[in-house]
Amino acid sequence: MARIVMKFGGTSVADLDRIRTVAGRVKREVEAGHEVAVVVSAMAGVTNGLVRWCQELSPLHDAREYDTVVATGEQVTSGLLAIALQAVGVEARSWQGWQVPVRTDGAHGKARVEAIEGEELVRRMGVGQVPVMAGFQGIGPLGRVTTLGRGGSDLSAVALAAAVKADRCDIYTDVDGIYTTDPRIVPRARKLERISYEEMLELASVGAKVLQTRSVELAMKQRVRVQVLSSFEDKPGSLVVDEDEFVEQPLVSGIAYSRDDAKVTLRRVPDRPGIAASVFDALAGANVNVDMIVQNVGADGSTDMTFTVGKADLARAEDVLGRVRDELGYEALLADPEVAKISVVGIGMRSHTGVANTMFRALAEKGINIQVISTSEIKVSVLVSADYTELAVRALHTAYGLDGPAG
Ligand code: ASP
Ligand code: MG
Repeated sequence: MARIVMKFGGTSVADLDRIRTVAGRVKREVEAGHEVAVVVSAMAGVTNGLVRWCQELSPLHDAREYDTVVATGEQVTSGLLAIALQAVGVEARSWQGWQVPVRTDGAHGKARVEAIEGEELVRRMGVGQVPVMAGFQGIGPLGRVTTLGRGGSDLSAVALAAAVKADRCDIYTDVDGIYTTDPRIVPRARKLERISYEEMLELASVGAKVLQTRSVELAMKQRVRVQVLSSFEDKPGSLVVDEDEFVEQPLVSGIAYSRDDAKVTLRRVPDRPGIAASVFDALAGANVNVDMIVQNVGADGSTDMTFTVGKADLARAEDVLGRVRDELGYEALLADPEVAKISVVGIGMRSHTGVANTMFRALAEKGINIQVISTSEIKVSVLVSADYTELAVRALHTAYGLDGPAG
């Protein structure tokens, strides 16, 4: 017998038929003798609609009231699933964030979970009741409803699994696992049986959108075993686990891409101490996150500086750098949103050399120019023209021997 948290995303609870299917799945786990708690998202599209309403009324709406509105999506599905479970003879009860309670800080719209007091839920599971918790929401220090940021019900599920010391947190979604890369681009992408927390974290942060990044961070910190699986098909998914569970560490586990970045180049920046600090201070002051950075060796007293920012932040970055142009003394600012970041990720990189070379060689053979390079212990990322995204991902998937049998 195990204790399992089952989380169902928006597409899995998109209509009443699907909610009935979910109830069937939960019932099966209960009948197998497991203790089960469920976490649900809002029905597909509902949160988007609620966000739009807030924006239409006032673009600069009060974040506390935004939370009051957007948290309702999950309230609906928690009640509906509890009814569907009762209808098939499973004892169930819905729980809103404030009822559990899921305690968060006061950062409305993107609150952090501070603690989940799970004792009552554990007690009820012990007597055969299934708690159905509304994901994405909690209660802030002043007693108001908070939400955890978009995609936050993954985080709710992992946090609940940690709080009730679950053996596993199963995330049911519209894909059947974690793949070596996006199967829409590479039909021969393979489903991974398991992947380490660290790899999953790198993949999630560079564009693999299966799990919310913060939920992976929390799973890693709390050592929660996570399984990603399909709510539509009956087959095992992919496990996200500690790297100790690997017999052999894969050199490269996956390839991710993201078109969410834009490239900014400052031409002929004076080459003197303090210039980088001034540029990045200005950006930080405007809340612009910088990712990749390159700076050339100076020649004739100046240098070019290139970096990437989120596409959504590009206008703000141009604005703030424009305002300090005289102070910094650069010649021109060039912005290019038509770029893609391609990343290869694998824990085996720690102990093997040549991973980056393979990447550069494979891209060269396809005639793809690399604009910026950055690395971490288990990741190499390059920035290329957005036109080459698919070609680059396919070439790398083959170069690292990740192609599965032709379908
Ligand atoms: N319903 C919320 C959203 O759409 C939370 C979630 O689905 O994870 O962002
Ligand atoms: Mg989601």
